[in-house]
Amino acid sequence: MKETLFKLTYGLFVLSARDGMKDNGCIINTVMQVTDTPLQIAVAINKNNYTLEMIEKSGVFNVSVLSEDVPFSVFERFGFKSGRNENKFSGFEYKQRSCNDVYYLTNYTNAYISAKVVNMIDCGTHMMIIGEVTQALTLSDKPSVTYDYYFKNIKPKPDAKKKGYVCKICGYVYEGDPLPEDFICPWCKHPASDFEPLQ
Ligand code: FE
Repeated sequence: MKETLFKLTYGLFVLSARDGMKDNGCIINTVMQVTDTPLQIAVAINKNNYTLEMIEKSGVFNVSVLSEDVPFSVFERFGFKSGRNENKFSGFEYKQRSCNDVYYLTNYTNAYISAKVVNMIDCGTHMMIIGEVTQALTLSDKPSVTYDYYFKNIKPKPDAKKKGYVCKICGYVYEGDPLPEDFICPWCKHPASDFEPLQ
């Protein structure tokens, strides 16, 4: 049943927020426009993400729409680490603040959208944020990167000789054997049961 839902299409985005002097961002794959008047978007984010805590406090966020020229290093920076332990924007030069004072990415993106929270829907593991768009700007004509494009063209292929496990949800590769039972995918936060051995 789960595999059937893999047929749904997704994009890839950096969701960013700010809490006082602290900036943070994470990779998400679910952003959609829900209404035109008022202009609203919906964002789904795993509750373990520090970025969500910041959005709950500040009530504002940015979505940077990643384009096909995005290198794997952007996913490593914003996707494989936690902003609780380090500043993910430190040393990253392609950033600017929009009207809400939150960073957006100026490169590897074709647009950014600033929004303020109007509703939050608790979905169990994830939170669905409904935001009203306060600013939106197109940055380039490059195509938006899809989840599928990322897997085929950006994510490095795992070394066939190495033993390890791959996350069926997001493609994160754990190198080593066995996979610890309490392992949590650092990117999508799914448990060890969603991993399968590398072929
Ligand atoms: Fe994962």
